[in-house]
Amino acid sequence: MPELPEVETIVRGLQDNCGVRVKNIEILRKDIIRRYDFAVNLLEGQRVKQIQRRGKYMVFAFARRHHLIVHLGMSGRLYSLPETAKANEKHVHMIMHLDKHKKIVYQDARRFGGIWLVHDLDDFFCRMGVEPLGKDFTPEYLAQTLAGRRTAIKNLLLNQRLICGIGNIYADEALFKAGIRPQRPASSLAPPEIESLWQAIRQVLNEGIAARGTTFRDYRDENNQAGTFQHHLAVYGKKGSACICCGSPIIVDTIGGRSSHYCETCQK
Ligand SMILES: [Zn+2]
Repeated sequence: MPELPEVETIVRGLQDNCGVRVKNIEILRKDIIRRYDFAVNLLEGQRVKQIQRRGKYMVFAFARRHHLIVHLGMSGRLYSLPETAKANEKHVHMIMHLDKHKKIVYQDARRFGGIWLVHDLDDFFCRMGVEPLGKDFTPEYLAQTLAGRRTAIKNLLLNQRLICGIGNIYADEALFKAGIRPQRPASSLAPPEIESLWQAIRQVLNEGIAARGTTFRDYRDENNQAGTFQHHLAVYGKKGSACICCGSPIIVDTIGGRSSHYCETCQK
């Protein structure tokens, strides 16, 4: 599933569409629109004002509080093409035709993602936690969030209402970098461990962005190209491989229904 670095890569890559006018929007599969605060044709003729990321969501902002929000779910892709190129792949559900002979294509084989047409962004995102690369995510915030919570630290990192944008890949990588086992109760982390985890989270997310995201199967960037962070992973997807630090085999355990990859020697 695309996580913060993948979504951020796409958003940055699509920035040159800001200021460009929407000619029309083709909806090829109606139920891909999860919410209609307004009719999609009201966006026709409007210019894209801003393209931003919030958690794992992408927000296209237009005038008069019109927002088109995209979530990629498990297998979604959002990429731009020259207008003349044929988007002939299967599972294309939306095509946003733009001036300057371009179009933005939304494709999603498994359809866990979707599109929301929303007026009130604050309301839409009211339950979303802090941005881990933003200024509100401090070691103190992380310490407060962990305090008194007996849930496994891995589960806590995946809770989008506390910290948004982190999924299975970057949670496992951050816990490895911080030397913390994913099963540890959140409240059991000592202050130096919390500081290490805070730093590790920001580091793995920034490295993921620098590598243009992680592609195992479906994720593609704004040009429909694979990312490269899969070549730099230490534990995620490495079951049985030798740990890059100590050589012990990487273990997989199911925590909160999600597979967690870690090193029993390096992570305490
Ligand atoms: Zn190790």
